[in-house]
Amino acid sequence: MKHFWVVGQISNNQISSNTSELLGALDELAVDQLAEVAIVFVGSGLRMQAPAFGRLGQPMTILIESEFIKNRNSDLVGREIADLAMSRKPELIVAPHNKWGLEVSAKISAKTRKPLLTNIVDIKSREDGFLLDRFSSGGQIKSKVWSPHGSVVTIHQGVFNAPKSADITTTVEMFESATMLSEIVRKLDHIEPGDQEGPSIADSQVIVSCGRGLQSKENLVLGKRLANKLGAAFGASRAIVDAGWIDPTHQVGLTGKVVSPRLYIACGISGADQHLAGMRQSDTVVAINRDPDAPIFKIADFGVVGDCLEILPALIEYL
Ligand SMILES: Cc1cc2nc3c(=O)[nH]c(=O)nc-3n(C[C@H](O)[C@H](O)[C@H](O)COP(=O)(O)OP(=O)(O)OC[C@H]3O[C@@H](n4cnc5c(N)ncnc54)[C@H](O)[C@@H]3O)c2cc1C
Repeated sequence: MKHFWVVGQISNNQISSNTSELLGALDELAVDQLAEVAIVFVGSGLRMQAPAFGRLGQPMTILIESEFIKNRNSDLVGREIADLAMSRKPELIVAPHNKWGLEVSAKISAKTRKPLLTNIVDIKSREDGFLLDRFSSGGQIKSKVWSPHGSVVTIHQGVFNAPKSADITTTVEMFESATMLSEIVRKLDHIEPGDQEGPSIADSQVIVSCGRGLQSKENLVLGKRLANKLGAAFGASRAIVDAGWIDPTHQVGLTGKVVSPRLYIACGISGADQHLAGMRQSDTVVAINRDPDAPIFKIADFGVVGDCLEILPALIEYL
C-alpha cells in the first residue's frame, strides 16, 4: 500500500487549522491511489494530545516524541521526519506553505535528497509520480509541474477544505526520537528582541493590517488599537517592515506569512500582487485607502475611500 504523509503543525498547544487543510488536499488523491494518509507530529508531550489527533478523521497518526524538541523547531522537526521517511519511504510528504512548513520541508528534502515543490494548489496522480498546479509570481501565474514519487510538497493555504471528520478509529504509531540534547543545543551570542504583540497572524480569524498609508511608525498605534478592540492580530505590508516600523513576524504576503482569516482589514495598503498573494484567501476583505483606484479595492468586499488617520480613530471610538 502507498503512504502519503501530512506534516502536522501545532500552534499554541493546538493542532493548527492548516493541518486539516493538508488532509483535504490529499482526500481525493488518496482514494484514487488507494493510499493511506498519516499525519506526522514531532514534539514533546504528544502522548497527552492523542485524543485530539483521533478527531482529525484519518486512519493513521505517527508521533515522534522527544523531550527536547518543540514542534515549532522547524529544523529539528524536519530532521526527525526525514530520518523516518528514509526508512518508511512515503510516496508523498505535504507540509503547509508557511515559514514553518517551508523550513520543515526544505530540511526533509535536503536530508532525503527528494525534490521539493512549493506553493501547490492541486495534486493529481500519474503513473510516474504527480502532476501539480503551482502558484508563482505572487499568485498571478499558475503552472503545471511534474514531481516523482517521494517528493516533498508545500500546499498553498486556504485552497483546500478540511475533510468532513469521519467517525473512524485512528491508529497511533509512537516513536521515541534518538536525538540527544547535546546534538541540538546551540550557543547564541545574543538575541535580537522582536516586538510580536498580541495574537499571531498565522492563526487569527481577524487581522488588522497596516501599510505605508499610515504615514509614520508612531501612527501604527491606531491599527494596533483597532486590532486590540477586535481581538485581532496585527499584520503589516512589507513596505513598513522594510522601513523598520514593525517586526517581520507581522508581514503578510509572498515573502511574509500567508493568511486566510474570516476578516482582513487593510489600512493604507495599496494591494500590490505580492501583498495579495498572502491574504487573497481571506473570507471578507475591508480596505481603507484614500486612493479610489488603489488595487486593493479590486479584491475588497467593502471599501472605504478616505484617510486612515481620520477613519481609524473614529472606528476605535465607535467600537
Ligand atoms: C520579491 C518581492 C516580494 C515582496 N513581498 C511582499 C510581501 O510579502 N508583502 C508585502 O506587503 N509586500 C511585498 N512586496 C512589496 C510590494 O510590492 C509593495 O511594495 C508593498 O506591498 C507596498 O506596501 P504598502 O501597500 O504598504 O505601500 P504603498 O504601495 O506605498 O501603498 C500605500 C497606500 O496607502 C495609501 N495611502 C496613503 N496615505 C493614506 C492615508 N492617509 N489614508 C489611507 N490611505 C493612504 C496610498 O493610496 C497607497 O495605496 C514584495 C516585493 C517584491 C519585489
